[in-house]
Amino acid sequence: MNSRYRLYIGGEWKEGSGGASFSAINPFNQEVWAEVAEATESDVRDAVAAARHAFETTWRMTTGMQRAKLLNRLAQLLEQNAERMALLESTDNGKTIRETHAQMLYVARTFNFFAGYADKIWGAVIPLDQRDVFDYAVREPCGVVGVITSWNSPIALLGNKLPAALAAGNCLVIKPSEHASATTLEFAKLAEEAGFPPGVINVVTGGVEIGKALVSGGGLDKISFTGSGRGGREIAAMAGRHLTPVILELGGKSPNIVFADADIDKAEVGALAGIFAAAGQTCIAGSRLLVQRPIYDEMMRRLVVRAEKIVMGDPRQRTTEMGTAANEPQFRRILDCIAEGKKEGARLVTGGDRASKQELARGFFVQPTIFADVDNRMRLAQEEIFGPVLSMIPFETEEEALRIANDTPYGLASGVWTRDISRAMRMTREIRSGVVWVNTYRMVSPQGPFGGVKESGYGRERGEQGLLEFTVSKNVMVDFSDEVRDPFAIKA
Ligand code: NAD
Repeated sequence: MNSRYRLYIGGEWKEGSGGASFSAINPFNQEVWAEVAEATESDVRDAVAAARHAFETTWRMTTGMQRAKLLNRLAQLLEQNAERMALLESTDNGKTIRETHAQMLYVARTFNFFAGYADKIWGAVIPLDQRDVFDYAVREPCGVVGVITSWNSPIALLGNKLPAALAAGNCLVIKPSEHASATTLEFAKLAEEAGFPPGVINVVTGGVEIGKALVSGGGLDKISFTGSGRGGREIAAMAGRHLTPVILELGGKSPNIVFADADIDKAEVGALAGIFAAAGQTCIAGSRLLVQRPIYDEMMRRLVVRAEKIVMGDPRQRTTEMGTAANEPQFRRILDCIAEGKKEGARLVTGGDRASKQELARGFFVQPTIFADVDNRMRLAQEEIFGPVLSMIPFETEEEALRIANDTPYGLASGVWTRDISRAMRMTREIRSGVVWVNTYRMVSPQGPFGGVKESGYGRERGEQGLLEFTVSKNVMVDFSDEVRDPFAIKA
């Protein structure tokens, strides 16, 4: 029998108050493998109230050391359950087990990292002009945080947000994507087992309307969103009515730039990792490969050979290198973008269609696709596809590479491949993106800040900056002078 997942509100597992549910579909074979309860607006209000109650009565009174213990315990449970969680996520969104398993272990490490922070959220003593006033600033939790995520990596996206938010002392209402909700509820079970008090973590499942109810209903002190630009714009506008601050992690059209002096073997692997890992459904996909003329043909030849050998198959098998599009709408969108690219006149050098041989026929598989000689003004180079579709763009000079790299609405990630350290330094300085990799690509860490510029969003996750996003500063002035002040002049 299929699994059934229920909402998690105030420490209780509940059906949606409207009694409705939706199906979780395995994109490898289009079979329904689970049913997920659908929340109503009233369930969302209950979840926000439960989070508020937990924050006011329990969680904000905990010490950093107490929170650290729970975070470490959850990290341990995630590690112990990594294989099982990875299998579930691969079943739900078609990402390979190689990727999902690595993500689970990475998320566990992120919890360990922020556990280390929980009791070290220092304030500051601030020296003033007045000797008899003691000024100190402390960092306090924001309060109740609404977390809305997309389907491409549900647990890894939670891993970017929750460890920091919980370490800082916030309570959460999470709304995962309607296309991949199951592992977020499995994650909540692990959090319950770890001993997080009722109401600290709540999960409401459902579609866009439930996300809207969460944002527009008020009662949140912060919103952390990962998803599309369209979703981000709508959420920022709704949140603006309540003046709720928002962190937006949105899309990208990241340039991966290979100079002729690069180590071509490493750059080839970096280009593959940039676009065909996760079947391109990663916000940091290196979907524009800029290659300097002298090695352009050689790089194209290598990538075509390698792309045509990519093993597609059941995402739950370790031998599989590339899984499916995560859901049918995304599958259709990728194929539409490819058709558009062909019409625009880009040169298709491999792929360009669905993959449907034998066991792939029932799944949402797209062939690894490479377009060559793409003009950066084409939609192919300007719009995020979120699929295994690479646009190769030749360039002559460093200046030209830089101009093309920065010429999109996005600014999430970028890669530079060169042996020339001065050039690497110049490029990293001039590229407008939140992350720049030199001689590597698609590398993440709990320690470094992550986020975008331009239409890739604002706010940072991970690292110290990621922690501070989930805190507010309070400045305290203690006057211990004997002076009786003039009540009609500001004391400065
Ligand atoms: P999406 O915006 O359609 O949906 C994301 C989540 O937001 C879902 O849970 C959805 O139900 C909800 N949602 C959508 N519109 C909403 C609204 N108006 N109000 C409230 N909730 C709303 O995005 P998606 O298709 O799920 O995800 C793909 C996008 O996510 C891509 O653009 C990708 O680049 C981006 N992404 C970004 C990062 C990052 O860290 N920058 C990471 C992963 C994915």
